[in-house]
Amino acid sequence: MFFACLFVVLGVLQAVASMNVGVGIYDMTGPSVEINFMGYAVPGQRGTGIHQRLRARAYAFQDDNGKRVAFVSVDGGMGSDLVVMKVVDKLNQALGEGVYSAVSSKNITISLSLANYPFFYQDNIAISGTHTHSGPAGFLQYVLFQVTSFGFVQETFDAWVTGISNAIIRAHNNLQPAKTLVNQGMLYESNINRSPTSYLLNPESERAQYPEGDTDKNMLLLNFISQKTGKTMGVLNWFAVHGTSMNNTNTLTSGDNRGYASYSLEREINGAEVATGKGSFVAAFASTNLGDVSPNTMGAKCIDTGLPCDGTHSSCNGRCEKCIAFGPGTNGDMFESTQIIGDKQFQFAKKLMSEATDSLMDGPVDFRHSFIDMSSLNVTRTDGSTVFTCKPAMGYSFAAGTTDGPGMFGFTQGTTSGNPFWDKVRDFLSVPTEEEIACQAPKPILINTADINVPYEWDPRIVPVQILRVGNLFILSAPSEFTTMAGRRLRNAIRSILEDSTLVPAGQKIYVTIAGLTNTYSSYVTTYEEYQAQRYEAASTIFGPHTLEGYIQEFSRLARDMVAGRPSTTGPSPPDLSDKQLQLINEPKYDRLPEGKNFGDVLVDAKPTYFLGETVAVTFQAANPRNNQRTEDTFLTVEYKTTIAGKTVYKTVANDGDWSTKFHWIVGSEHPLDFGVKRESTAVLSWTVPSDALEGNYRICYHGDHKTVKGGKIVPFSGCSSDFLVNAP
Ligand code: ZN
Repeated sequence: MFFACLFVVLGVLQAVASMNVGVGIYDMTGPSVEINFMGYAVPGQRGTGIHQRLRARAYAFQDDNGKRVAFVSVDGGMGSDLVVMKVVDKLNQALGEGVYSAVSSKNITISLSLANYPFFYQDNIAISGTHTHSGPAGFLQYVLFQVTSFGFVQETFDAWVTGISNAIIRAHNNLQPAKTLVNQGMLYESNINRSPTSYLLNPESERAQYPEGDTDKNMLLLNFISQKTGKTMGVLNWFAVHGTSMNNTNTLTSGDNRGYASYSLEREINGAEVATGKGSFVAAFASTNLGDVSPNTMGAKCIDTGLPCDGTHSSCNGRCEKCIAFGPGTNGDMFESTQIIGDKQFQFAKKLMSEATDSLMDGPVDFRHSFIDMSSLNVTRTDGSTVFTCKPAMGYSFAAGTTDGPGMFGFTQGTTSGNPFWDKVRDFLSVPTEEEIACQAPKPILINTADINVPYEWDPRIVPVQILRVGNLFILSAPSEFTTMAGRRLRNAIRSILEDSTLVPAGQKIYVTIAGLTNTYSSYVTTYEEYQAQRYEAASTIFGPHTLEGYIQEFSRLARDMVAGRPSTTGPSPPDLSDKQLQLINEPKYDRLPEGKNFGDVLVDAKPTYFLGETVAVTFQAANPRNNQRTEDTFLTVEYKTTIAGKTVYKTVANDGDWSTKFHWIVGSEHPLDFGVKRESTAVLSWTVPSDALEGNYRICYHGDHKTVKGGKIVPFSGCSSDFLVNAP
């Protein structure tokens, strides 16, 4: 009888009539110069300025019972467990304890009293990286991801925590009754598989189920319509493609192809007159199972001969450095490639928005979250046998990189046996045990990350798995990069559990999507079959050949718990290593000037006249942009001269977040008093005049901050070019 009553009560609680949705955006650009970019692991790839600012885009959902989740897509490499912990601290301070929390499981007492029912599960935040490879590193707490950035970077980390928590607070404060339209469709010619020979190892019968082939083409899109205004508040979509349109020679901060797509859709809906990053409409192009998916659609070839690479090893004459894939830009131009792949996503999202007729159910909102120790998980297979995951280790082919950004030292993809020299180098750090070698086979271990704890952990072992439910949409938060087929298997497994239940009423479609690179980063996940070939993605599948089966088992457990309405058990939380973090990048000390110059002086002025499509470039006497990141602000304004009430005014028409502008900082000559350290600098600010620019007079202004030699005070300054005329051609 008690149980019958319980189910009636729960049934009433689940019968939700409306849903609140909130959207929010905040700048998280961070230090734009001198810091290594996260992604390609090329030590020399350090920031020299800004092409696009990086943003956190947050969506809050709340049902009738007050139960809520927050999903955040960040213009950054990937999610970070340490970032999540510190964001939760900030939210607890700003919004009250436990409103949003992804790591408070240890504080939950297991008691099924109805009094605390809808607030029982606390782990309701997902922070997912778009996987741009053109943003500053240093936000992850494990050593493997800090080698090329020379340690942890507090400036990056703080920008992330501030940007993400403020985006969520904005979304939370913006919660309002809303209808969610949903649509999906196939977007072609925007992605290719970069390890097609691995994909072919999956069973033929399985591959035959996917006529679209070796990459997912589906874009799933949500469009949130405010009940108050009847207008769109924001868009959130998922499409599988790497953030590697900008290659490993780029040094300007960029959101890559997704960043361009978000920028374009926000500009379209907010209006071009609204400053970039300031509008109320927020459009996130989020990542999903993009593990083996490249935006470089022209494919890989040998850059010296123009011939195709060796397909299994992605090498030319046995070496990987010359086998590189290019995007569709003219002569491989990476800015143009970024724009083309971004524009395809933008145009397709617009089409899905305009053609959407189905809506998501108005709730309920629900979530399940578990920490699991992926280094020692027992996986029970369907035949009853047991397999295990392994302690984390990187394989040889990890060092080969991919055709989006090859590695160095002569490693090639598809390496299944080690060599004595590199084994010696490996053993210098840590000698893997026979058991570890057997567990990871056929992966030859190059870095035995499990057993190196100097100066602290090299790889995560405890990873979060999470399902967020918004009506009939289920978001699977994956803490890594799943390949195409790995993602399909995971989605199918969860979909079938949900379809076999009554969780979603009959007649309602069940949407299942993977949120990629969410809440922490544990490299890649391939299928067991793909693992055997040991290309880059498999060599980076750190928990061994049964990693995917382990994840499917754990996500299935969460799905069954959600179906049954019971809480999910959780393992230990990941460590908070913030006290141990090493930082080898120093703060900028002070800025110097050449004799007779001031900060903000124009060194090379604009020409008197430009035509549409031409690029204006002005050089200024500069200071280190790390003195002040100018968060939610700009280093650059393009200003249009006009008259208001008889007075001449300059109206800002573009800032440093716009696609048409670039802010490029250049370290200058050495000051005689500085003994080898260069503290003078210049900046080149450029603007490519858009085809819709008004005719008339303009100027370009630089806004910076210098640090004084005495006292280290930060002092703002500005400087502007002379007026120049823009003429129609
Ligand atoms: Zn990747």
